[in-house]
Amino acid sequence: MNEANVIDGVAFSAKVRAKIADEVAALKRDHGLKPGLAVVLVGEDPASQVYVRNKGEQTLEAGMHSLTLRLPAETTQAALLKVVDDLNKDPTIHGLLVQFPVPDHIDPLVVQAAINPDKDVDGLSPVNIGRLASGQPALAPATPVGCMMLLEDALGDLRGKHAVVIGRSNLVGKPVAQLLLRADCTITIAHSRTRDLPAVARLGDILVAAVGRPEMVRGDWIKPGAAVIDVGINRVPSRRPKAAAEGKTILVGDVHFEEAKAVAGWITPVPKGVGPMTVACLLQNTLTAAKRQAGLAD
Ligand code: NDP
Repeated sequence: MNEANVIDGVAFSAKVRAKIADEVAALKRDHGLKPGLAVVLVGEDPASQVYVRNKGEQTLEAGMHSLTLRLPAETTQAALLKVVDDLNKDPTIHGLLVQFPVPDHIDPLVVQAAINPDKDVDGLSPVNIGRLASGQPALAPATPVGCMMLLEDALGDLRGKHAVVIGRSNLVGKPVAQLLLRADCTITIAHSRTRDLPAVARLGDILVAAVGRPEMVRGDWIKPGAAVIDVGINRVPSRRPKAAAEGKTILVGDVHFEEAKAVAGWITPVPKGVGPMTVACLLQNTLTAAKRQAGLAD
């Protein structure tokens, strides 16, 4: 039996970032416009520190202006909203995000709603959610945009395909379903209350797993030849008993990769699949936001 094509998210995201860098250079040359991305981190969550550093580095590599603001964990919500308001008004900043999670005393929904929707490169403000759902030009969350780029690159035209999305979070499941709907797919959204999930998953010409449960999707959940996009990032003990005993861990997705590879037509691995696309698509959103703010794009 043929094995699935394994989608290389590292190589593809490098191509996307190179294309963005070319566009940024042309914007500077032709319009004197340098796109700027501001990232605000409240507190010292170790994973967030890594993500924020990574975003800053890749923003600079793309030739954009990068601003990282690190605020102490005790920053009040009012003080954070003031920082957001200043960045909303800053003409050198075209994209702005607050890294989540924020400390418990800050309401993420209030913060998301305070970001100027035209600068909301995480696509989490209610205005962008509404724009996406109603088919208007929107900024959509980066990971779902990355899933779409990988699918379009692998399959070409997505029209008429049945896409099953497992997961309905505001960050991944719902926006990826909206983007697939925009691409004229027929959509099924599954979640923790879905009955007979394996049978529902098997309907998908496209199967997107965004659950956060290690290797939940088994080979016999997959329609032969389907394109499987595994968004999940789960840390589990190493497979090697000695390494596991030493506390070593590995990353796995929501899909059982080896089983799925034997059935699917295309599959993203974890790591090195969807993950690297996320920052690339954040930069893409920043570029789009800068062009729209300068009247250079719809
Ligand atoms: P959430 O926890 O917000 O959402 C998980 C979704 O999965 C929920 O809708 C939940 O259903 C559903 N679910 C949970 N258990 C089951 C089950 N047994 N059967 C069916 N559905 C289930 O997670 P996120 O959407 O934020 O993230 C999902 C995964 O993607 C995580 O592993 C996360 O780390 C990863 N991720 C990866 C990114 C990347 O860059 N590659 C970026 C963002 C996330 P219900 O709504 O009913 O509770």
